[in-house]
Amino acid sequence: MKITRIAAYRVLLPLVEGAYRWSGGKSVTVFDSTVVEVDTDSGLVGYGEVCPLGPSYLPAYAEGVRTGLRQLAPHLMGHDPRQLGKLNRVMDRALKGHPYVKSGVDMACWDIVGKATGLPVVDLLGGRFGESVRLYRAISQEPPEQMARTVARYRSEGYCCFQLKVGSSPDDDIRRIRAVREVLEPSDILVADANTGWTLHEAMRVTRAVADLDVYIEQPCLTYEECLSIRRHTNHPFVLDESIDSLEMLLRARNDLAMDVVNLKISKLGGITKTKQVRDLCVAMGIAMTIEDSWGGDIVTAAIAHLAHSTPEELRFTSTDFNSYVTVRLAEGAPQRANGTIEASTAPGLGVTPIHEVLGDVVLEVT
Ligand code: MG
Repeated sequence: MKITRIAAYRVLLPLVEGAYRWSGGKSVTVFDSTVVEVDTDSGLVGYGEVCPLGPSYLPAYAEGVRTGLRQLAPHLMGHDPRQLGKLNRVMDRALKGHPYVKSGVDMACWDIVGKATGLPVVDLLGGRFGESVRLYRAISQEPPEQMARTVARYRSEGYCCFQLKVGSSPDDDIRRIRAVREVLEPSDILVADANTGWTLHEAMRVTRAVADLDVYIEQPCLTYEECLSIRRHTNHPFVLDESIDSLEMLLRARNDLAMDVVNLKISKLGGITKTKQVRDLCVAMGIAMTIEDSWGGDIVTAAIAHLAHSTPEELRFTSTDFNSYVTVRLAEGAPQRANGTIEASTAPGLGVTPIHEVLGDVVLEVT
């Protein structure tokens, strides 16, 4: 089987809540997502999706996905999409770095492998663990009382894990964490995600001020070293996200016992193949994970569900259903949240069928 064509579509995904705000005053109102279509000489077609969280979260931006694909795609013509190890080597030789550019192609090729074998990707990734995958809900940064009301509403929809967007002024963030913990039951999980937004002294103030509360602290500061320092000063369960962008960083952080949970995002690591590699190593070392992506619609949500559902339950901290945050449905067959959980599809491949009227015209095409 050979890749004969790679095309991309641009899909705008407005947010159900109107806006998503996080540390440092950053916000997004409409996500700019790229759907990648990989055609083969067998007639099988695979789909992937890449959606950065705006241009200022990770070193990734929406137009960069398309620009990178224009550079990368000509090198992939004629390669067998089922040979994912070889394909990833070809991508890494053709374009140094830029993992998010490669993520959509890799995802589409997993879709093709599934369709070619008649198996859902969850089976190819190791098999389904448990009935369903527990989700967290990200809570956009707002005044404390408003965030508490939002959490209470999502809790009534079945979520039991909440990730608060903090990382602004320590005084406001302390109030946010306290207001939200107040409306939760003891068994509910609360994560305060500063998204690199605190300086060292700010992170120290916040963690000390909420020392009496059951709350996880996620990526408090910009650098790994700063996070490690906070980690060593606090008793809160600790999550690393932005700092864990490679296998090397995972091993270094593990060696330092720098976290209790890592957050794996498919496009941050460069696709399903590379995220599986990190996931499997975390399983082998007993590190719990949140399995997700930077953002996305139905195709990203499907890919997340396959990867998360094929992760042993005891090491699967949470996952996410980005397609329920946006107003546009771009594919049929994607997982739909039920009682705060999702399940991977049982259909071959990713189990999604893009809706071409929503994808619109091709914005790039390489043959
Ligand atoms: Mg995070």
